[in-house]
Amino acid sequence: MANIAFIGLGNMGGPMASNLIRTGHSLTVFDLSEAAVNTLVSEGAKSAATVQEAAQNADCVITMLPAGQHVETVYLGENGLLADLSSDTLVIDSSTIAPETARKVAEAATERQITFMDAPVSGGVGGAKAGTLTFICGGEAEGFKQAKPILEGMGKNIFHAGPHGAGQVAKICNNMLLAILMSGTSEALALGVKNGLDPSVLSEIMKQSSGGNWALNVYNPWPGVMEGVPASRDYEGGFLVNLMNKDLGLALDNAVKNHAAVPMGALARNLFELHASQGSGALDFSSIQRFYYHEPS
Ligand code: NAD
Repeated sequence: MANIAFIGLGNMGGPMASNLIRTGHSLTVFDLSEAAVNTLVSEGAKSAATVQEAAQNADCVITMLPAGQHVETVYLGENGLLADLSSDTLVIDSSTIAPETARKVAEAATERQITFMDAPVSGGVGGAKAGTLTFICGGEAEGFKQAKPILEGMGKNIFHAGPHGAGQVAKICNNMLLAILMSGTSEALALGVKNGLDPSVLSEIMKQSSGGNWALNVYNPWPGVMEGVPASRDYEGGFLVNLMNKDLGLALDNAVKNHAAVPMGALARNLFELHASQGSGALDFSSIQRFYYHEPS
């Protein structure tokens, strides 16, 4: 079992760190939110006053932070961790960030003989709590071999996508598709309801037909069709519209750099951005359903 420094205990990082404690690892945690730290301490983690203190004596450092700038600050900023870690430390970043930022951190780590893996996740808060996340890793084969047993404490499917940054590329492709399919599913449900169909009946029909997809199977966006999903609790918790917008921005930036046409991704990005501009940025992304349909007042 390893001494793990876990940094970033939000919607995803909190339950991921809990699962590592349950697996038997020793955790030292840090987050800017005291409440988030206290929850983990009540489950057996040690708390640290700074990122640097958390990483002292760690065999492995895991970060689960909102965006690239936070990851750069923690590893490369003033008092950045990479300057202090010993060369046998394994560093895993599970945040969703630009592939080039992951490569920049990886390069700095490699210069100091530190093993770095980008390992963004899919599976949402439900998957983080259940320990069934999918990890999409980028880095050297040897790093993947070291990281896999630790990631298995938090996830079910652990993929090696390729070299440094490849995990982030696969992740942003996946999330672009997710935004497109959630928008399309919401659009189809709204059309059916406008025609007087029951959204539960229509969902079941599409699930068993050629329109079946992940949103219909496990994350239905129509309130009341499925229990335990954000749509059935006013779109609270889950994966925020603002974070989806960040990921769609990463996909579009990447498409420009690589001369890839992403018309559907661009449309999804605009839909979610408009939705956020109407005050929905802090709701779950399945709230895009409201963009298509409002109960008649
Ligand atoms: P979140 O906003 O709930 O949590 C982020 C945490 O990081 C917060 O607790 C915040 O206080 C902490 N933090 C910020 N800066 C910090 C710093 N410098 N030092 C220490 N802590 C700091 O976000 P989340 O939903 O947990 O998402 C984290 C990452 O995972 C994001 O990159 C997101 O895109 C990705 N992701 C989220 C989901 C999801 O369903 N929520 C799914 C897959 C991937």
